[in-house]
Amino acid sequence: MVDLNKEARKRARNKAKKARRENRLKQFSYIEEMGAFGISKVRCKCGQVLSSLKAVPGLSEIENIKGRTIVRERVAMASNAAYTEIVITFNDGSKHVTPVCKSCAKAGFSEEALNDMYAADMERWDEEETRGLGKVRWDLNADRVAVSYKEVPAEERFRD
Ligand SMILES: [Zn+2]
Repeated sequence: MVDLNKEARKRARNKAKKARRENRLKQFSYIEEMGAFGISKVRCKCGQVLSSLKAVPGLSEIENIKGRTIVRERVAMASNAAYTEIVITFNDGSKHVTPVCKSCAKAGFSEEALNDMYAADMERWDEEETRGLGKVRWDLNADRVAVSYKEVPAEERFRD
């Protein structure tokens, strides 16, 4: 029997490869990881840093070991002032949220750019599925085409 989800995953991979090859996005791989710490940096698809690991104020511990002062910081992902999100609407009416920088959001995105950005997100999902971080419904996600978008107001932001 044909595994429709597997077939759809192949199509998603091909879309991602094609978008990567066409090289219209400056930063196709926009999420950086630091081993066991997980995600350490998120960039816009133009390269602008949007969030990174920052020391959490008030949670540092100072220790004195053999005359050396050691400051232990706790870190968490924190977004900077450039961070915003857009919600992309697809031809099937479904939606997807992705992070971008405010200057890109202000300049606007072509349909081609939206589809490249979505291909970059699918590449990321593909990697995550390979690492055992959850199954993707490729049959629902692989073939949708971005048709429009709008910036998500700060008070409605969430991460999907
Ligand atoms: Zn940008």
